[in-house]
This record gives sequence, structure tokens and C-alpha cells, in this order.
Amino acid sequence: MAQERGLPSVVLGLGSNVLVRDSGFPGLVVRMGKGLDRFEMKGATAIVGAGLPTPLLARRTAELGFTGVERFIGIPGTIGGGIYMNAGCHGAEFAEVITEVTVMDPKGKVKQLARRQIVFKYRSSNLDDQVILEAKLGLGEESPAKLKELQGRLLRWRKAGTPFDQPCCGSVFRNPGGPKTAGMLIEECGLKGHQIGGAQVSTMHANYFVNLGTATAADVLKLIEHVRKTVAKKAGVELATEVKVIG
Ligand SMILES: Cc1cc2nc3c(=O)[nH]c(=O)nc-3n(C[C@H](O)[C@H](O)[C@H](O)COP(=O)(O)OP(=O)(O)OC[C@H]3O[C@@H](n4cnc5c(N)ncnc54)[C@H](O)[C@@H]3O)c2cc1C
Repeated sequence: MAQERGLPSVVLGLGSNVLVRDSGFPGLVVRMGKGLDRFEMKGATAIVGAGLPTPLLARRTAELGFTGVERFIGIPGTIGGGIYMNAGCHGAEFAEVITEVTVMDPKGKVKQLARRQIVFKYRSSNLDDQVILEAKLGLGEESPAKLKELQGRLLRWRKAGTPFDQPCCGSVFRNPGGPKTAGMLIEECGLKGHQIGGAQVSTMHANYFVNLGTATAADVLKLIEHVRKTVAKKAGVELATEVKVIG
């Protein structure tokens, strides 16, 4: 429909890593959710719809005694967003478990891509103009009790160090490689708690910028620029954004 009308379009999962400009997005926004949230196990292969929330995938597979995605329990968002971003944590990422992805190409054609046809890098993929619809994930076997115990520990660790109860646009910068994470560099430059308008560098974790209640997207973008410039000047590291700016 967007193509017929010459409109730009964007696909969203749960919007966990996007910032929409204050002027909005002048086109069609497709949100993947119920209806595309299939979850099925065939042997040790999980067949999952793009709209299924990632924490649900982590919990369900762990309960059934399958290992591979249990560490994703605290990653907000959907499978589609997770695959597109190659999301990951605690040393695991989507690229490791994917065996096949079903996509719709820009012409509206649905096709299957084998893992070897997809290029995944740190927090990115080459699926830019594809709509991810479904995926097959190759998992292993493990005791549900062991997986549940691990997930409990990871969730407690996350809740203690991530501003889960404040609105934010997800990880702002990619980790630059090398010994220090983006969060560490921002903190070392004295920027934790720094505020522009209603947007603040989280006092809990410096790579999350939170909305204190009145933030506009422009406030967040100004804060991103300020942090980027300050880290470049003080630490000599050029940070690249992970958050996707829409509009
Ligand atoms: C508190 C918090 C903690 C986080 N922790 C982590 C973490 O530990 N590790 C990590 O990697 N990330 C983390 N993130 C970032 C975020 O959770 C991930 O990037 C997540 O995978 C985004 O999923 P989503 O469905 O919300 O995608 P969205 O934010 O909706 O979209 C992200 C991008 O993916 C594209 N996209 C979404 N769905 C599809 C689809 N079906 N087909 C094609 N493109 C699509 C969108 O167009 C957009 O460019 C965190 C975010 C928050 C808020």
C-alpha cells in the first residue's frame, strides 16, 4: 500500500530502541505484534514469529528445557527487532542461534534466507530494507531448573543496573570495542545525571537516556550530541549511535 501511494514506511517491534523525531514520521508505520507471534518447537528448532516478545521466547524455551536464548530474558522488544539489531547480552547474540529468517522484500515478495545469506555484525544486520516475518532458531538441550535459576540471577542483575521503570530509547551508543563500554566512557567523562530539557543521562546506567517527564525528542537529540562531543574531546573516542532515529 505504501509503495502504491509513494509513501515511506517503517516497521516497528516494541519501539525499545527507537527515537521518533517530534515532527513524527510522514508515512506508514507497521507494528509487528499479535498475529505474527507464533511460537513452536520442532525438535530443538524454535519457529518464532517476528512479533513475539523476546523475553517470552527466552522464558518459554527455558521452561521446555532448551538453551540458546535464555540470556535474552531481559532484552525488551520483539524477535523481529532483535534479529534486525542483532540484539544480545551476556556474551550471546541472535546471530548465533538463527538458522533461517523469513522476510518480505521491498517488492512484497516473501522469501526464506538461510543463515549464510545474512551478514550480522555487532548490534546490526544487513536486513535493512527487509521486513522480518519469522525465524528458525537452532537450540540445544538443558535442564529447565538450571535455566530458570540463571534467568532469575540475570533479571536481578539487570533490574539493579538498568532504568527499567523510566521511559527511555534503549541503548543510545554502541560499545566502541576495546576495554571500555560506551556507558563506562560516558560515566568517566562526568556525564551521569547530565540533563538537557527533560532528558537525562540515567544515574543508573550512563548509556540510557531517560525521559524525566517533559522530554522532547529534540532534548534527547541535543543530549546525544553533547555526550558524543564531550566523550570525543575528553576520552578521544568517537561514539556511534545504536538507537534508530525515525522521522
Ligand atoms: C531498558 C532497555 C534495555 C535494553 N537492553 C538491551 C540489551 O541488553 N541488548 C541489546 O541488544 N539491546 C538492548 N536494548 C535495546 C532493544 O531492546 C533491542 O534493540 C531490541 O531488540 C529492539 O526490539 P524492538 O522490537 O523493540 O525493535 P524496535 O525498537 O521497534 O525497532 C528497532 C529497529 O528494528 C527495526 N525492526 C523492528 N522490527 C522489525 C522487523 N520485523 N523487520 C525489520 N525491521 C524491524 C526497526 O525499524 C528499527 O530500525 C535495551 C532497550 C531498553 C529500553
